[in-house]
Amino acid sequence: MKIKNIFFGLYSQLRSIILIFLNLFAKRETRLYPESALNLSSRYRGRIILTRDLKGNERCVACNLCSAVCPTDCIEVKKSEKKNGRWYAKSFKINFSRCIFCGLCEEACPTAAIQLIPDIELSDFSKKYLIYKKKDLLISGPGKYHDYDFYSVSGVNINDNLKNNSSEKILNTVDTTSLLP
Ligand code: SF4
Ligand code: SF4
Repeated sequence: MKIKNIFFGLYSQLRSIILIFLNLFAKRETRLYPESALNLSSRYRGRIILTRDLKGNERCVACNLCSAVCPTDCIEVKKSEKKNGRWYAKSFKINFSRCIFCGLCEEACPTAAIQLIPDIELSDFSKKYLIYKKKDLLISGPGKYHDYDFYSVSGVNINDNLKNNSSEKILNTVDTTSLLP
């Protein structure tokens, strides 16, 4: 029994030495982040942004669906209304110290306003800096969904277009077959 243990111990030591020696010549997997950039998938769910439509208007209509669906209750939206009846978020906050980057808010959003992007650089030294306000979240462009314009198919703009008898044109902008599997 003891001799068997001695042989097993020697084998184990030799195997470890050989593996270490072989790894000296293997390709290094360690990344020297942040000097060396990480290659994240374009579908990676990281930092959350609020986007604008093609006309530069804020896409968010303060419907609160993202806040309602969020499993960690980390989104707070306060609604306000413009003179033309269009709703917008007067205040929009996300607590990134509670967010689990599940993407449900993006799934629920009817206007494609809220989007998760492949940005992982969110760490900070204090939790209070992880509460992002609207000015930190809102970007100047449309994000991932370049062509989507909620107000061309719904909302206050459609009333104006219906008055101008261009409803047929509006309906043609939606390809319902694209929603099929
Ligand atoms: S990604 Fe998930 S946890 Fe984070 S804000 Fe959206 S719904 Fe909430
Ligand atoms: S981000 Fe989308 S789901 Fe959330 S309040 Fe704005 S429009 Fe509604």
